[in-house]
Amino acid sequence: MFDYDSRPVTPGVVLVGSRSSTDAYAIRDFLTRNGKVYDWVDVDGDGADHPAHTPGTRLPLCVLPDGTRLEGATVAQVAAGLGMMAAPRLGEYDLAIVGAGPAGLAAAVYAASEGLRTAVIEAVAPGGQAGTTSLIENYLGFPEGVSGSQLASRAAVQAERFGAEILLARPVDEIVPDGDRYVCRLRDGTAVSSRALLAASGVEWRRLDAPGVERLLGAGVYYGAGPSEALGCRGCQVVIVGGGNSAGQACMRFSRYAARVTLLVRGAALTDSMSQYLIDQIAATPNIEVRLRSRVIGVDGDDGLRTMRIATAGSDAVETLPATALFICIGGIPKTGGSDRLGLVLDGAGYLVTGTDLAPDGTSPPGWPRARQPFPLETNLPGFFAAGDVRSGSVKRCAAATGEGAMSVALVHRHLAETGGE
Ligand SMILES: Cc1cc2nc3c(=O)[nH]c(=O)nc-3n(C[C@H](O)[C@H](O)[C@H](O)COP(=O)(O)OP(=O)(O)OC[C@H]3O[C@@H](n4cnc5c(N)ncnc54)[C@H](O)[C@@H]3O)c2cc1C
Repeated sequence: MFDYDSRPVTPGVVLVGSRSSTDAYAIRDFLTRNGKVYDWVDVDGDGADHPAHTPGTRLPLCVLPDGTRLEGATVAQVAAGLGMMAAPRLGEYDLAIVGAGPAGLAAAVYAASEGLRTAVIEAVAPGGQAGTTSLIENYLGFPEGVSGSQLASRAAVQAERFGAEILLARPVDEIVPDGDRYVCRLRDGTAVSSRALLAASGVEWRRLDAPGVERLLGAGVYYGAGPSEALGCRGCQVVIVGGGNSAGQACMRFSRYAARVTLLVRGAALTDSMSQYLIDQIAATPNIEVRLRSRVIGVDGDDGLRTMRIATAGSDAVETLPATALFICIGGIPKTGGSDRLGLVLDGAGYLVTGTDLAPDGTSPPGWPRARQPFPLETNLPGFFAAGDVRSGSVKRCAAATGEGAMSVALVHRHLAETGGE
């Protein structure tokens, strides 16, 4: 099991790059979230004279444990170099699961343990949003809380022990129907065919619309609060935008390393959107300042974030705040990418609609080909299920996601039974 803050001292991988490089950030995030130990050499800091950083080297440079040097490295090259890009073992699966967050991993554990040939396809790393969380305090059975990374790695090991295959570091770009099968087309060209499909692809962060944000993305401005960045923020001025639990947890994590953490919240009170235990922890942490009714007007810096412009409701004044890192935690939008052209029914916010919500009056959804109604977690396409945060009406919690993942497998069995048995 791994935990971000208790990594062994002997790293296997050396990553050399600039702290303002978005490519280097993507690799750091990938390695951290997959529990890979690495040494980060920041050429803008005290790593300028590191022996691996010779003149003319194309950065980011990733030196693998066997000595292989990947210049101008990408996430896919690093994943392949570390042997993390296995090809699917089977020509067809009973169930393909898109996303290895709590919903996808729970489904994988139940499906594989019940004898289904199961593949999980994950764009980045096991754990999803939960995997980036420093401490989940309300997950059943962990009275002291559990780090998201531990929960994710335990679940992945459990799923693999039952025989599920987890295909990492390859997003599903497209899902196409093939008779009564579904075929997932992965970014690297691999195709995965299955008799049933579960979308467990969660949500991605909502974008902050302010000048400078896109330009400085990965160069001091980040969506979410990736654990890989916490240690690098030692002594820094950190700003977190958002009023929900994810923003609150990010504050607590970064306050352990940063000189100062400023939480910018649009609303007039944290109680509207954040759990009381986090509000209490923030109030008791001297290096966190909460600024209510505030919004970001713009972010500035040449090759990395330097300052932010902030406005406060009721005042015309625009204040300039020094900032080394900005973490944007303002909620998510559903990740239904890959299934866009299938004609799935989405709700007004873009989440996948399932079960009786497809036809609340008790009729069948338009074009539905079966005599029965869609099963509870089934979309308007037979055998195409959705679980967790990506599903319309879902409760955005780990336990709810794992519950739906587990429940979906019982429904997959029923679908398989009516399409040729198991
Ligand atoms: C910072 C933070 C703190 C939180 N704290 C708590 C807490 O304390 N308690 C609690 O109960 N909940 C908490 N939550 C919410 C909880 O983490 C989510 O509800 C839960 O992770 C949802 O699980 P999921 O599997 O549905 O989706 P996700 O966790 O979003 O996982 C979806 C996965 O699908 C992958 N994916 C997406 N698209 C593709 C694609 N095209 N191809 C392949 N893979 C894809 C993603 O990379 C991701 O790994 C927190 C969330 C955050 C962000």
